This record gives sequence, C-alpha cells and structure tokens, in this order.
Amino acid sequence: MLRTDVRYLKGIGPARSRQLARLGIENIYDLLLHVPRDYQDRRIITPICDLVPGEEVSVSGTVISSVYLKSRNGKSRLESIVRDNTGELKLTFFHFSYIAGKLKPGARIIGSGRIEFFGGISIVHPELIFLDEPGSDTRLVLPLYPLTAGLTQGIMRKLLETVLSEYCSAVPALLPAEALHTMGFLNRSEVIRKVHFPDDPEEGSRARSALALEELFVHQSLLNYVRTLASKRTGIEMIPPDGSLADFVSSLPYSLTGAQNSVLEIIAADLRRNVPMRRLLQGDVGSGKTVVAAAACIICCRSGYQAVLVAPTEVLASQHYRTVSSMLEPAGIRCGLLTGGTKALDRRDLLESLLNCTLDVLIGTHAVFEESVVIPEMGLCIIDEQHKFGVQQREKLLSGREPSPHFMLMSATPIPRTLAMTFYGDLDISVLDEMPPGRGNTTTRVMNRDSRSFVYEFLQNRIHNGEQAYIIYPLREASEEMDLKDATSSYEILKRGPLGHFGIGLLTGAMNPEKKLEVTGKFLSGEISILVSTTVVEVGLDVPGATVMVVTHAERFGLSQLHQLRGRIGRGGSDSWCFLMKSSDCGADGAKRLAVLDSTDDGFRIAEQDLRLRGPGEVAGTRQHGIPAFRIASLIDDSDLLEKAASMAAESNSWESLKDEYELRFRGLDILEL
Ligand code: ADP
Ligand code: MG
Repeated sequence: MLRTDVRYLKGIGPARSRQLARLGIENIYDLLLHVPRDYQDRRIITPICDLVPGEEVSVSGTVISSVYLKSRNGKSRLESIVRDNTGELKLTFFHFSYIAGKLKPGARIIGSGRIEFFGGISIVHPELIFLDEPGSDTRLVLPLYPLTAGLTQGIMRKLLETVLSEYCSAVPALLPAEALHTMGFLNRSEVIRKVHFPDDPEEGSRARSALALEELFVHQSLLNYVRTLASKRTGIEMIPPDGSLADFVSSLPYSLTGAQNSVLEIIAADLRRNVPMRRLLQGDVGSGKTVVAAAACIICCRSGYQAVLVAPTEVLASQHYRTVSSMLEPAGIRCGLLTGGTKALDRRDLLESLLNCTLDVLIGTHAVFEESVVIPEMGLCIIDEQHKFGVQQREKLLSGREPSPHFMLMSATPIPRTLAMTFYGDLDISVLDEMPPGRGNTTTRVMNRDSRSFVYEFLQNRIHNGEQAYIIYPLREASEEMDLKDATSSYEILKRGPLGHFGIGLLTGAMNPEKKLEVTGKFLSGEISILVSTTVVEVGLDVPGATVMVVTHAERFGLSQLHQLRGRIGRGGSDSWCFLMKSSDCGADGAKRLAVLDSTDDGFRIAEQDLRLRGPGEVAGTRQHGIPAFRIASLIDDSDLLEKAASMAAESNSWESLKDEYELRFRGLDILEL
C-alpha cells in the first residue's frame, strides 16, 4: 500500500504529481517521509514593532482596514492593515480566497508567514486564524515543508492530513520498541504523525530524530549483515616462507615509515587468518600506499596465490604497473597490465598466463573484472582510489568465490568518521597517518585575477629552471553556458606563447586512453614541461619533477578535490607552489572556503570543512559510493544517532526483516542477491 503512486490519491492530477516528483515524492511512503524542514509555532506572537524581513513569524492583532487596489498592470490585490499595541502591519493578497474576504475591520486574527518588504513591511498570503470564529483552523503548531514551484504549505498540509489518516497505521515497525519508548513515542505511526503535526516544535524535532535513527539503523543493518556474511566465508591462510616480507622491505630504496610498518603488520596478520580480509587503507595523498599494496602482493604471491590491483583509470593503472612491477619483478614475481586498451594478442597471452598461473600479479582497470578474465588462484584483490566501489559492488566481487579472496580498498579521500561508518561500515579501517620524509614543502596561495601576470612570471621562472607545472581548468572545452576558461583553448594559446618550446601537453577525460598514456608518459619523462588539464589528474599521478600548480576558477572545486589536486606537486624533494586563482565573481563565501587550504594541509580537517560547507554528497560523492542520499538523517548533525544506530544494528541482527524497507527507502539499489 505504501508503494501506491501518489497519482492515485484523491485530488492529485498529473500536474500536481509532477510537482511532487520534483521533491522526490512518488508514492505514499515518500509523502509520509517528507518531513517538515521546520515548524511554525503560532503560540509565539511577535510584536509588530519587532518584525524583521525574512523571518517566519506570527502576529496577532485587529484588522483596521481592508481595501482593494489595482496595480498598473491591471492586477488587483487586497491590502489589510492589522494593528497590535506596538504598530501596524500590512497583509497582502493577490488572489483572494473566501478567507481574505473575512478580513473585516474589527476582526481579531493571528496571521503567520514570512515578513517581506513589499511597499513597507508586509506578509504576502499569510495563514490566518480568526480568533472570534469557532470553526477556523486553530492548530497552533504547523509544519513548514520543503516546497517547489506550484506547491504551497497549505496544499502539502492537506495532502499529509489525508495520507496520515488513511495510511499511517499501515507502516511496519522498524526500530526495536524500547528505542522509541526512550524517545517518548509509543510506536512508529505515532512518530510519523508527530513529525508532521506535533503538539510543539520540540516534539516534532524529537520525532525527526527518531526517523533519522531508524534510517541509519536500516542502513547499518545492511552493513552489519554484510560483515556477518563475510566473516562466515572461508578465507585463505597466507603463510609465506620466512623472510619474504623482510627481503622485500630491505630491497626498497628507502625505509618504510612507522605508519607503513604498523599497517603492514596488521595486513600481514589479516592475510594469515582463514577469514577473508576486508580492509580500507586510508592515507593522505603521498603517504605511500602503493608500496604497502606491493608488500601485500608479496605475501600473497609468496604463499602461492595470485593478486589483483585495480586502478580507476588507464593512466593510473599503467603508472601502478610501472612502479609495482619495478618493486616486485626483482623478487621474481611476474606482473601484467590489463586495461580496456590492451591489444587483443597481448590480452590473449595475459589471460593464458593467468590461467596457467605463470602470472602472479594482474594490474589493471575494471577490465580485470570482465568474465573472460579468469584468475584461478586469486587470493588478494586491492582496489585503489575507486570510490564507485560501494558495498554492493564489493559484495558482488567477493561473494561468488570459495575460498573468498582477501580484499583491500585504498583511498586518499580522508573522510570523517561518520562518512566512513556509512560508506565503509562493512570494512575495517587502517590509516597511514605519517608522511614519508624528504618531501618538499608545498606553499598554497589564493590569488586574485589581478595577480595573473605575477603567477605567469613565476611559472615561467620555474620552467626555465627545469621544473614542471600543472595548469588546471574546470572545463575541458569552451562552453556556451558558462563563461569559464577551459583547458583546450588555453592549451592552444600557451602552445603558441613564449613557453611553447618547453613542451606543453593537454590531458582531458575525453581523450582516448592511448593519447592519455602518451601525454602522461611525456610529462613523466620531462619532454613536456607544462601539463594543461582538468580534474582528471586529481588522483594518483606521480610526477616528481612537478613543482607548480595553477588552478583557475578555483572556487568551483571542492576543498578535498583541490587538496587532491595539489597532492600532485611536491612529490620530489623540492619545494612547490600551488596557486588557487579566484574568479572575478568569486563571492566572500568562496574566498573563505579557499582560505582553508591556505591554512592547513591536513586532509582530514579539509574534508571536515568540506562536509560542513558543502554536504556529504559533494565531499565523498554520495551517489558515486552507490549509496543514495539519506532522506532524513544528516551525516553532519546526526553523528551521535549514527553511533547508536550502529550498535543497535549489531545487537538486533534484523536485516532479513528490513530488506523491504531498504528497497523502498533507498530505491534503485540492487540488493536482491544479498
Ligand atoms: P599515495 O599514498 O598517494 O598513493 P604513493 O604510494 O604514490 O602515495 O607514494 C608517494 C611517493 O612517496 C612515491 O614517490 C613513493 O616512492 C614515495 N614513498 C613511499 N613510501 C616512502 C618512504 N617510506 N620513504 C620515502 N619515500 C616513500
Ligand atoms: Mg596512490
């Protein structure tokens, strides 16, 4: 019943259902969960002398006059003047309902709405209570809903009244009963009723918390279920010959950081167990995750199994192939690279050597997950910087195999704990919280457009000095809609300018993989000094000679994204500079946001700021994680509820009974095979 399309409700035609769809409301359940953004408390009366434009208030007074006026464009309106003992206020109506017609001099009313400045201080279309009239709507606390063009608070309230009375008793229970009791409610239908029509705003916000808690609970129950399933799978006990790991570590040109050593110890312990590892390795850009991945591969291959290392793009996959194979091949471990661009013949050879186990480590893009790629002894799967790899995808990859391979996800996106619990709640988390020594300092400066010539000169000097630079644009190509500079046009201009003979390259997401590899190869070898690009360089690219980065229209990027971008420089030993160029129309908010990058290089703090300023969807790319946005819970404000939801989910173990709810709430998710 809850899935019934709103179109079948009385009084909803095609136009109204389109409006509701804009708010994400398609069925009865969506309506029930369309919680008010706030409440109007008509018990709190503001004296007219204290009114401030923009506020939602209630005013109580006596009507002293009502007149019909015609404006120049021929439209008429009704203006009533209401007086209390502090002043007078105008109420304006452009279309008159019978209610407006009752505003006769002497009528005592409460009028509620937003104060506007409309030829003096005024409320346009206030909601009215006629105090001398017994029959009028006298509910004192009213919901204020998120709206869209064509809908009014009145329409939404009517709709909710209908739906609540007809369907609310049908909602299934979700949370354990005690949880609701502690929050002051008898059952779930009471919670839903009260969130819409509470006796006072405090009760409404308590009901909202209860609904946020249940939402988080449903999601945590899924994660809990996945974790339980995974812990029951048989894993592979990897016990390599003595000294394998130590030999590898001593073959490196540097010694591992303390953080790398301790994470590696944890991973080695995971791999020894007969339960499959499920771990997230978090570490800021440049913290040295790749070598940890390579060491894990050593343990795996020395124990007689094959390993897979997956990167999000061809450029990164081939970079990994270069670095990882140069670390592993001296130890006699054979590596192969497989991407969408691999030639048919090479691919056949690769597949064959995988099958007969003469290939130990397969490095590649998502192409490695194609069905034709059979890895008979796969013991370890590592996925780097792949945020689209949500819990559903992880399960899909790991559930079919017996014994189940060990799994590790690596990410440089430092996400706050609440997000980690949500996106990676099925994984154990390790953090590389120490940078390798010997890195240069990166200085970040936020610049005005006026400083362009300074920046250009600076860039020119560094290039003459033999160093390399990135110039980043928000757009790949010129766009008619947006007046922004773009990578392609700027590339053409730079190429013909005085820096042209130092080698200028263009790298955009639209280029074909071979072209991308060619350009990054030239940048790495130094044949190209300046790489003009977009955010495609955001993850992973490792070119030690690059010391300058210029980001144009910087305010258009997320903070974490900028932090990732600037992680591309300062990778060699020398000092580096990142210039964040503001657009001329960058507002004060934008400038303040950018200043965060100037003040810290702690990725976690930056991510937290980003979360506050832009919301979780932007920070971690909620959709990309395969998790649709929560309807009610806020990952910023409800972190205490999240902890509670997680422990309740672990205790109650009730995923089976929540499946339907999950599907209904986070629709479009393919969880059938779970
Ligand atoms: P990320 O964590 O961003 O993937 P990388 O694995 O690409 O970082 O490492 C960044 C750079 O640091 C690489 O050039 C790598 O060779 C170097 N590196 C990694 N670990 C160490 C270490 N312990 N000491 C010195 N340099 C290191
Ligand atoms: Mg990396």
